Amino acid sequence: MAQLTVDIGGKPGINCRGFCEYCYFKHVKENPPFGCRHCPPFRVGCDYCSRSVREYYQGWKSLRQVGEETLATLQMMTGEIDRVTISGGGDPSCYPEFTDLIELLSGMEVPLHIGYTSGKGFDDVEIADFLIDHGLTEVSFTVFSADPVKRKRFMHDPTPDVSLKILERLCGAIDVYGAAVVLPGINDGKALEETCRWLDDRGAQGLILMRFANRTDQGLILGNSPVMKGQQVQSPQEFQEMVTDLAQKFRMKISGTPLWDPAIGSPFAIRNEPGLLDKLPLLQRSATVITGSIAAPSIQAILDARGGGVNVIATRKEIACLITPDDLKALDLGEMDDLIVIPGRAFVHDREAERIFTSDGKERTVLRGPEMLTADAETSMGMTRDGVLLMELESFAGLIAMINRYG
Ligand code: SF4
Repeated sequence: MAQLTVDIGGKPGINCRGFCEYCYFKHVKENPPFGCRHCPPFRVGCDYCSRSVREYYQGWKSLRQVGEETLATLQMMTGEIDRVTISGGGDPSCYPEFTDLIELLSGMEVPLHIGYTSGKGFDDVEIADFLIDHGLTEVSFTVFSADPVKRKRFMHDPTPDVSLKILERLCGAIDVYGAAVVLPGINDGKALEETCRWLDDRGAQGLILMRFANRTDQGLILGNSPVMKGQQVQSPQEFQEMVTDLAQKFRMKISGTPLWDPAIGSPFAIRNEPGLLDKLPLLQRSATVITGSIAAPSIQAILDARGGGVNVIATRKEIACLITPDDLKALDLGEMDDLIVIPGRAFVHDREAERIFTSDGKERTVLRGPEMLTADAETSMGMTRDGVLLMELESFAGLIAMINRYG
């Protein structure tokens, strides 16, 4: 079974009927690429770190182009397709040929999934039944707030009542996962509880809450901070407590990103599973592991449980996958071991990382760790607890094997 992704293009904000107030793409600048794990050895910058990461598209693809590309992908795929996912840089609800696209894809008679929509482009409630009738089975829908006034003010949704009616209809018929960036003082507290109740009562499967980031250390790496001048931001701990509290109050699954999934105990659910920790190989060598400040204490605890000797160092960047060369340059080389493991997804070219960590004249080996050590809420939303634990077990086993081999 395989999944077919249909990319319709579009630019975030530009092809979304204007930027939502909190959109991270609002102030994205044309920076030189950082480099990443996909870059060729002698060039900093590849398609991923210079284009995809900022969802850089020219604009919408025409329906014809989407059709041709889909056909080409289909010809290369083997096995049966069990789901078709519509994705893009812009918001699918704003795609000019949206109904034609759905009609075209529904001809494949495979369940349809919209990877992300804000619903801002839907102006007619009829579209909900049209989608259900044409095979839509799952959608991730940014609700932001069940209060239409807030949707209008902060998402610039011209028809918030209609969007909410569509969301309501979809909740009653298919799998709906709501999403909301939490802006303290705007859609949190009582307002957020009302939004949760609204979704829960209507049958949504889940809600992903996204902690708002407004500074570079919180994850805005494309020269785009602040997104909202003067906007309050929750600390990771405040955010985690809020997610825990809400998850206890409602039937639907509520989780948060960059942390936390209370039903699974992730990220790093394995930390509290002694039986599984015992299955990990013992550490035989030493190394320095670099990570984000949110993950560092958990990674340290898991590695300490397997023998210690590894020093986990937190960058000022909160999220490991968003570490850039500046975060590495700010670290104290005096604390570094002979082997340094950086996050698999860090936005740093391998050679640049080596240059930074040997700039004091001392030889050190720099390696990239596993792609992911745990599942964030967007990943864990569709996973079981066992699935997440297995993923963590495998990635930590990989990390320890790397340290034992090269440390
Ligand atoms: S709909 Fe999403 S991508 Fe578009 S402006 Fe709003 S937050 Fe940005």
